[in-house]
Amino acid sequence: MQFTHYPIHSLMEVTARPQLVFVRGEGSWLWDNTGKRYLDFVQGWAVNCLGHCPPVIAERLAEQARRLITPSPSFYNEPSLDLARRIVDNSCFDRVFFTNCGAEANEGAIKLARKWGGRNRGGAYEIITFDGGFHGRTLATMSASGKPQFRDLFEPKVPGFPKAQLNDLDSVAALICDRTVAVMLEPIQGEAGVVPAEDPFLTGLRQLTRERGLLLIVDEIQTGVGRTGTLWGHQHAGIEPDIMTLGKMLGGGVPLAALVAKEEVCCFDHGDQGGTFNGNPLMTAVGCAVMDAVTAPGFLDTVVRRGAYLAAGLQELSSSHNLGEVRGRGLLLALDLRREIGADLVGRALAAGLLLNAPRPGLLRFMPALNVTEAEIDAMLAILGTLLREMVGE
Ligand SMILES: *Cc1c(COP(=O)(O)O)cnc(C)c1O
Repeated sequence: MQFTHYPIHSLMEVTARPQLVFVRGEGSWLWDNTGKRYLDFVQGWAVNCLGHCPPVIAERLAEQARRLITPSPSFYNEPSLDLARRIVDNSCFDRVFFTNCGAEANEGAIKLARKWGGRNRGGAYEIITFDGGFHGRTLATMSASGKPQFRDLFEPKVPGFPKAQLNDLDSVAALICDRTVAVMLEPIQGEAGVVPAEDPFLTGLRQLTRERGLLLIVDEIQTGVGRTGTLWGHQHAGIEPDIMTLGKMLGGGVPLAALVAKEEVCCFDHGDQGGTFNGNPLMTAVGCAVMDAVTAPGFLDTVVRRGAYLAAGLQELSSSHNLGEVRGRGLLLALDLRREIGADLVGRALAAGLLLNAPRPGLLRFMPALNVTEAEIDAMLAILGTLLREMVGE
């Protein structure tokens, strides 16, 4: 169908979208309404860990849809129990609460920490978060975020989220007071431009929070489920947080997220937390298929190898075009363009049949499917190389 025939004005306008409509996806590829094919290195914002429409997910969805879609969250169902067990068995955590999106999982983490502070720390409720951090778009998670564009939006903010500087332990220590209950951060700040929390900083933060009796919350919505080459991003630093949130890749493309916690922290009373669709069998069945794929022998080794392959290719482009650093881990990587050509480059890439993301004006972020092939990486690098030659020269 022609683009002009779609009723685009029926949708609320919340972002600038290109004039095309995607109609089909398979693996690393998408097709639009004109039949044009695109190589996808965005994958629904780091969501489709197994690529577009992987058969294991399509089949699991169809099978579960015929069996049981939702019995209400006030009853147990098999897929949610199966998925909770898979997460618990493969992590340092003990219990899981499923949500429909990442922001809702983080809201749950904030509520759990505040409840725990009410019980154990005389009503302490402040959660130290970080400049540049991103935790979602609900009122509390926007308040917890350190995204400059959120600063003056939707006032008044939810109070209780003082901001420290990433990789600066002293800046965290300086904010700790009687009101503090937790510290919350992303192992790699994704939206801020793939800025890693360094391993010594994370180990220091674990030690500091333990000494001061505070909870450590890791927002692994972008880094969890294999993205960085380990199942969870915090494993690189060898730490055990108290609370973790998951989203994005957990559902491999369907809306599924989770709040995961150590037994000692699980203090919700009946009625404190819930939600109509939470833990429904249709989505959690998909989560089981995703966890089985990502924890299959050799899968994460391949993520590490493909990540190194992509990083090496980006490094080569950086050297030949005089660009900046390549950073990140596994298959969450960024290329510093050293000039504010990100939006222009993303637009030209789209025209050339390649989906890229520029979370900042001078930076590209790469978040392909975890099963992306070397040939697909080569194809992406070839298009990007051509565009860079046009835009910045050799
Ligand atoms: C995407 C993201 C969120 C928000 O998740 P939604 O599913 O969009 O609500 C929160 N934290 C991080 C680190 C994210 O990358």
